[in-house]
Amino acid sequence: MHEKKGFAFKVLVGILLGLVLGTLMMQNMPVGIQPGDTLEVSSSNGLVMEVIVPDGKDAAPVNIDGTDTTDSFALAGLHGQAALDGLSDATGQPVTEMITVDRKGVTVKPPATEVVYVLGQVFLRLLKMLVVPLIIATVLVGIASLGNIKKLGKIGSMTAFWYVGTMLVATAIGLTYVNVLQPGQAAAKIWGDEAGSAAIASQTPADLILRIIPTNPIQAIAELDVVGMLFFVIIFAFAMLAMGKRRTAPVFNFFESLNDIIFVLIGWVMSLAPYGVSFLIAHTMATQDVGFLKQIGQSLGLFALTVVLALVTHWIFLLVMVGIFGKMNPFKFIQKLGPAMSVAFGTNSSSATLPVTMRCIDDMKVSKRIRNFVIPVGATLNMDGTALFEATAVLFFAQAFAVHLDVGAQALVAFTSVAAAMGAAGIPSAGLVTMTIVLSAVGLPDSKISLLWAIDRPLDMLRTTVNITGDAATCRIVQSFNPDIRPEDDDVAEEYEPIDPTASHDDPVVIDSE
Ligand code: ASP
Repeated sequence: MHEKKGFAFKVLVGILLGLVLGTLMMQNMPVGIQPGDTLEVSSSNGLVMEVIVPDGKDAAPVNIDGTDTTDSFALAGLHGQAALDGLSDATGQPVTEMITVDRKGVTVKPPATEVVYVLGQVFLRLLKMLVVPLIIATVLVGIASLGNIKKLGKIGSMTAFWYVGTMLVATAIGLTYVNVLQPGQAAAKIWGDEAGSAAIASQTPADLILRIIPTNPIQAIAELDVVGMLFFVIIFAFAMLAMGKRRTAPVFNFFESLNDIIFVLIGWVMSLAPYGVSFLIAHTMATQDVGFLKQIGQSLGLFALTVVLALVTHWIFLLVMVGIFGKMNPFKFIQKLGPAMSVAFGTNSSSATLPVTMRCIDDMKVSKRIRNFVIPVGATLNMDGTALFEATAVLFFAQAFAVHLDVGAQALVAFTSVAAAMGAAGIPSAGLVTMTIVLSAVGLPDSKISLLWAIDRPLDMLRTTVNITGDAATCRIVQSFNPDIRPEDDDVAEEYEPIDPTASHDDPVVIDSE
C-alpha cells in the first residue's frame, strides 16, 4: 500500500463525511413507515390501537380504522403528517399520533437513500468477492510455508491461547460493567412481563460442532461457509506438510501465485475504501428513525451504553497487550490498522474486512507465514467484541427477568459466550443468532432477543471493530514470540521446486520429518 498515512486519513474523512451525509439525509429524507413495522396509533378521542403494516407481497392489507378502506399497505414510506392525513379510528375521529414500536427492517427508502445504498454495496460486494479465494490461498500457503508440523503446532497453540484468552477477558470486562451499571433493572420496569416479538432462529451446540465439517467443500465455498471452508483448507494444508515439499510443489506454486494475484486485487478494491465506507455509514445513518430510536432508548439505552463502555475498555486492553507483548507502539498499531478498523466499522463484517486486515498487517513487521494463518482463522473464530456482547446481553436479560446469576453461573456465561462467539459467522448481527446457546446454558428464555435487533447496528459496528483489532493484536504478539520466523525470509517460493511438466507422477510419497 503506498502513501499509507494519507490513506488512513482519507478513510477517516470518509467516515466523517458519511456521518454528516447520513444525518442530513435522516433529517431531510426520513425513511418513514416500513413494511413489517408495528405502529401504535392514537386518535383524538383517546383510542389507542396497534397496527402491523403487512410485509409480504401476499400479506392481507389491514384496515387502520376498521371503517373505511384505507389500508396499511399505503402507509409504507410515508412519514410525519402525510402518514396521519386521512386516517381515522373506528368512531371517525382523526388519528393524531402514530409511533413505531417495533421495526423488522428498512426496505422502502427515498430514491437518494437507495442510491447511497447501491454505492456502498458495490464496495462491500467487491470485498466479499475476494474472501473465498483469499482464505483458500492464504491459509494454504501460510500453513504449507511454515515447513513442518512442529512449527505449525507452536504457532497454532500460541494463537489459540491468545484468541481464547482475550475472548475470556472480554467477557469478564462485559460482565463487570453489567454487574456495576445494572442496565437490566431499567429495562425490567418498562418491559413488565410483555413477551418479546418475532422469534429468532435458535442454534444448539450440536449444530455448531457439526457445522465445522463440511460434507461438500465445494458447497461450503459456494455458500460462503467460512468455517467449513477453513476446516477443509487447514486439513488439506496439513496433508501437504505431511507429504513434503517435493510432491506438493505444483499445488503450492499455484496457490502462492493465486495469493499474489488476490493481493493485487485487494489493493485495487482498497483504494475505494474512503468512498465505500462513507456510503455504507451514510446509508446506516439515513435509515435510522429518530423517534423509533428514542422509543427503544428508554429500555435499552443503558444497556447500549454498558456495551459501548465495555467494548472501549477491551479495545484499550488489546492495545496495552500490543505494547507489552507485541512490542509495538499502540499508536502506530492504530494508525496501521486504521483502514481495517474503519472498514469493519462500516461493513459490520469481519469476513468482508479480512482482505483489508491482511493488507494492514503487512506494515507491522509480521511474517506472511504467521499472518496467513493467524488472520483468516481469527476473522472466522476470534471475536472478542462478540463474546463480550453475548455475555453482557445475557446478564442484562437475567437482570431484566429478575433471575440472579451467581459467580458460577456467570462463569458459565463467560465460557459459553466464547464458544458462541467462535461459532458466530463474521457477518452483520451474527452474534445475536448464536446468543440462544448462552441463554439456554443458564436456563433463560430467548423471547426478548429480538428486541436487541433494533439497536444492533451501531453496537455491531463497534464490536466488529474490536473483533478485527483482536485478530491483528494476536498476530503481532505471535510474531514477537517467534522472532525466528522472520518477515525477511518470507519468500519461500524457491524452496518449492518449480513445476516440471514432464515429471513422473508416481514418485513415492516422502514424509517430511523435519
Ligand atoms: N458482525 C460481527 C463480525 O462480523 C459478528 C457479530 O458480533 O455479530 O465480526
